[in-house]
Amino acid sequence: MTADGPAAEDLLGHIRREYGDGEVALHRPVFVGDERRWLRECVESNFVSTAGSLVGEFERRLAAFTGAAHVVATVNGTSALHLALRVAGVERGDEVLTQALSFVATANAIAYTGAEPVFLDVDADSLGLSPVALAAWLHEHAERRDDGRAWNRRSGRRIAACVPMHTFGNPLRIAAVVAICAAHGIPVVEDAAEALGSRAGDRHAGTFGALGVLSFNGNKVITTGGGGAVLTDDAALAARARHLGTTARCAHPYEFVHDEVGFNYRLPNLNAALGCAQMESLPMMLTIKAEVAARYRRFFRDRGVAFVEPLPDTSSNHWLNAIVLASAEDREPLLEATARAGVMTRPVWRLLSQLPMYAHCAHDGLAVSRELAPRLLNLPSSVPEREFARLRP
Ligand SMILES: *Cc1c(COP(=O)(O)O)cnc(C)c1O
Repeated sequence: MTADGPAAEDLLGHIRREYGDGEVALHRPVFVGDERRWLRECVESNFVSTAGSLVGEFERRLAAFTGAAHVVATVNGTSALHLALRVAGVERGDEVLTQALSFVATANAIAYTGAEPVFLDVDADSLGLSPVALAAWLHEHAERRDDGRAWNRRSGRRIAACVPMHTFGNPLRIAAVVAICAAHGIPVVEDAAEALGSRAGDRHAGTFGALGVLSFNGNKVITTGGGGAVLTDDAALAARARHLGTTARCAHPYEFVHDEVGFNYRLPNLNAALGCAQMESLPMMLTIKAEVAARYRRFFRDRGVAFVEPLPDTSSNHWLNAIVLASAEDREPLLEATARAGVMTRPVWRLLSQLPMYAHCAHDGLAVSRELAPRLLNLPSSVPEREFARLRP
């Protein structure tokens, strides 16, 4: 798409047909189900904080939907990632492999553990961690020692985990990433924060690695206000995440006994109430989001613009729609024209390797990430208001 007036006008026309006049957010929450009833009942129960039955109910609904055996709900997705990394055994001084093309929370959670991220490249199609880049980097750096774990021959540090991220809700080549990591003794913590409702083959994103993480921030597919969850099939890892996220408090009828430095990361009941209601709307929201994406796809196909598509054999939640512009110079004028019209389009995140606090971290050259990131543009992707009637219970 060229950046002149007509191109911006043309795109704005499509967005206006989708979302109507007025301000258009990138991704807004939708409360047209039973949210009010769930919240009222929660308040009337007097259990609005971390005790209360709705957290368990929300966790059960997430487990049923994702197929994960265990779900631990947390205050946000970042805390879920932090917990998952700790439970996966990441310690101070370790290295953790991840992609440079991600939201800052991915790297922040790694930094919270005292480990250092190593930034690897993404695939140009999935925009998620590239199995080819991962295998190449491991071939050059990794050796498996007698402890069964992977070590970086060059830095002398342990490679304690790998955190691939399902960008914009489109599943990456997760089975390949997990297989490569398994061969090296590296646990995988999937950042599926954007991917509730996305599947690779017949498995839900976030259930391939030892642990996976979801977010229910206000801009995600469903929201609890703030919230997140750790997914795992391993009962011991789940119990450990629950313990560490509940101030490491030991079961006792009345005494306060804590056996390590824990975190106050559990999701409050009030947020879980919202989550239970949102889960009821989720299947319909996914249907409508797929239709929004299909209309974008047709619009851009007719104009020869590269629309970011999910890989074959995956189904995406179509959280955020995106295009890849022919040239980086095309992006700023589109951002400006849409901002002027009160329509939020967004450049993709700055590469994590280019942020000041991570600029010193190792990376693999990031050829694809560096080439693509300046040309990626995210588009408004909410459920359109005119579809709200379909969501009412
Ligand atoms: C949203 C998000 C998170 C964390 O979510 P919060 O709930 O906002 O803490 C982590 N990783 C990615 C890729 C995200 O998009």
